Amino acid sequence: MSFQNLGLSSALVKAAAAQQYIQPTPVQQEAIPAILKGKDLLGIAKTGSGKTAAYALPMLDRLQTSRTFRNRFVKGLVLVPTRELALQVGEVFLSFSAHMTVKVKTLSVFGGVSINPQMMRLQGTDILVATPGRLLDLVASGAVHLDDVEMLVLDEADKMLNQGFEQEMREILQLLPKKRQNLLFSATLDNKVNAIQETLLQSPVVVEV
Ligand code: AMP
Repeated sequence: MSFQNLGLSSALVKAAAAQQYIQPTPVQQEAIPAILKGKDLLGIAKTGSGKTAAYALPMLDRLQTSRTFRNRFVKGLVLVPTRELALQVGEVFLSFSAHMTVKVKTLSVFGGVSINPQMMRLQGTDILVATPGRLLDLVASGAVHLDDVEMLVLDEADKMLNQGFEQEMREILQLLPKKRQNLLFSATLDNKVNAIQETLLQSPVVVEV
């Protein structure tokens, strides 16, 4: 099994190889073809499983061929529970997109630091990785528009829900266009995750590793 077999374009296969990703992990083997087909996905996978690349590679692939790529606003939104994960996920997108001919701008935003520098860097962002509270502040101030979001990822959804971000997450969902692809990753499938996946996902492909 190789990344090419999973249906990724050669640019993304090269980007993966440049990061020494040669053999896809189990979550990548199952998630990447489903995401490339545009399906919603529920991934029960822990850190260390390769879940970040499992969504980052097909997201970049889909967005680079999207008709709406030239739209002005954020097209891919990744919600994460912590600043550390926001930075880490942003780095993964950055390292893969560096090899693409279509220029994709990724930015990570999170609370606990001043908002102004983040506001100034937002313009032209295609993929935004965000903690929920800071995202809502940026939306309220008019710095982020969510009308063009085509793909949504909730990463470490169990942690987000159990860290008290449930209300913020629900508010953000209300702000997104109805027609979009939803990907939810969680280490566990507890009651809260189950409730949100039922409202969020339509006929999802379920991947459990
Ligand atoms: P994650 O579960 O997304 O936090 O990834 C865990 C670690 O595995 C990260 O350091 C990745 O860079 C690495 N990794 C993920 N997928 C692969 C792969 N297919 N081949 C080699 N390393 C990988």
